[in-house]
Amino acid sequence: MPYMLITERMDIEHHLRDPVFRALFEQTHEAVMIAGTDSPGILEANPRALQILGYSLDELRTLAVTDLSPDSQRAFLHDFIRATSGDGSERTLTTRLRSKYGEAVPCELNLRPLALGETGLLLFTFQDISERLQALHDIELRNVAIANVTSGVTIADARQPDLPLIYVNQGFQNVTGYSAREAVGRSCRFLQGNDRDQPPLDELRSALKEARPCVVQLRNYRKDGTLFHNELHISPVHNEEGELTHFVGIQLDVTEQVKARESLQRSEKRSREALAREKELNEIKTRFISMVSHEFRTPMTGIQASAALVRRFGDKLGPEKRVRHLENIEISLQRMNRLLDDVLFFSRAEADKLTVERTDLCLHDYFSRLMESLAPIHPGRDIHFHCTLGKSESFPLDEHLMDHIFQNLISNALKYSPPGSPVSCSVSRKNGDLVFSVRDQGIGIPATDQKRLFDAFHRADNVGARQGTGLGLNIARRATELLGGSITFDSQQDKGSTFFVHLPESPPEPSDQ
Ligand code: ADP
Repeated sequence: MPYMLITERMDIEHHLRDPVFRALFEQTHEAVMIAGTDSPGILEANPRALQILGYSLDELRTLAVTDLSPDSQRAFLHDFIRATSGDGSERTLTTRLRSKYGEAVPCELNLRPLALGETGLLLFTFQDISERLQALHDIELRNVAIANVTSGVTIADARQPDLPLIYVNQGFQNVTGYSAREAVGRSCRFLQGNDRDQPPLDELRSALKEARPCVVQLRNYRKDGTLFHNELHISPVHNEEGELTHFVGIQLDVTEQVKARESLQRSEKRSREALAREKELNEIKTRFISMVSHEFRTPMTGIQASAALVRRFGDKLGPEKRVRHLENIEISLQRMNRLLDDVLFFSRAEADKLTVERTDLCLHDYFSRLMESLAPIHPGRDIHFHCTLGKSESFPLDEHLMDHIFQNLISNALKYSPPGSPVSCSVSRKNGDLVFSVRDQGIGIPATDQKRLFDAFHRADNVGARQGTGLGLNIARRATELLGGSITFDSQQDKGSTFFVHLPESPPEPSDQ
């Protein structure tokens, strides 16, 4: 025991015999060591010091306090002890003390002179601060992690109205463009701007009210006003008394994901629409083929039958019957011709290949010709024509398109009214428009069918098993629109129908055609 002075030792032992002093010395939670001022040899150590350092008391008594210091700090501790011995003032230092097993235990070491009788002594008290340091280290690590995480992290004070932000990390600043100084103190809702009608806000509001965690996706706005999609994870924080104190928010900028999802949805919608369109086109094609073949078959069968009869019986038929059969053939051919015209018009319209060729058309002459051509197909039917225009007035119109409009409207009027009832047709002018009407007193159109009447292939409930393509009105409308006009109708079931066609007297600008 090279450093120990016998007198000092005896002095301390004498004092430690005092039961109160002994109890205090042995039971205090702090580690205590006593050393001489002149010689730094350790004279006494309490059980807590022995526990921290791992030495027995006898082993410690062979060491000086500086022997417990790691090499790098030994000189410093030495100066520290000397200074306290010199001026007698108390000092505290955070250092490491080496245990018997070589472990450097972080300690907060307090050093002060100890006046015990005549002897000059130093009192070393220390605490193992490993756990405290570890806790500090952990907090620091967490702070660094939160500060450096790329997502935005915010903390809002739940005890204040409007939940002001008290912390935002760098990630928040990167995402939003607001600096911590600009954001802290503002309500945690400030990124919503005026965009307050977002359904997820209801969920967020009730989660905040009920202090429960939630995840919502919001439209938020950066400092420069640009929109970003914010996936917000909110968690409430409670204190030990269970009171709500804060809300922690984690913000993920999911703008790219939202854009990718939206563009995927758009392209899915486009391909769904393309598929639906393809399906619709296929259906149109199928209906078109079956309709055309069906509509052609009737006049063809008529032609076949009449031709066969004329060929088979020749003169035996008598002149009247022969003429009737030949007329039948002519009417059937006319029907087929019209049908073919409609079919060609429709397919060219579907392919967007229709054009307008205007020539000066005298409407008096045009309608006389039209009536004449329809008369043989509808024998015995009356078609009245009323025209308020001058007899020789002509207008720049496309005769072919006019045929498509009026042959269809007049044929329908005849087709959908009983044999004896008249059909009337009129032309007048009103406000720069030529106004045509085709009126019948037939079966009329049920209200339920009126909306879709001009759709291709649509046939109303009123017609039963009557023949028809379901194309006539669609063709009439397309032809009218090509001429820059419009078509409407007025009809009541069982009370007849009137179709109105408005065409501008002068052709519209070329770009409208
Ligand atoms: P189609 O006459 O060949 O069936 P349209 O396109 O010309 O085809 O007419 C569509 C449907 O509109 C007809 O099937 C019929 O139900 C109804 N319709 C058209 N014109 C009249 C009319 N003047 N009176 C009653 N119904 C009509």
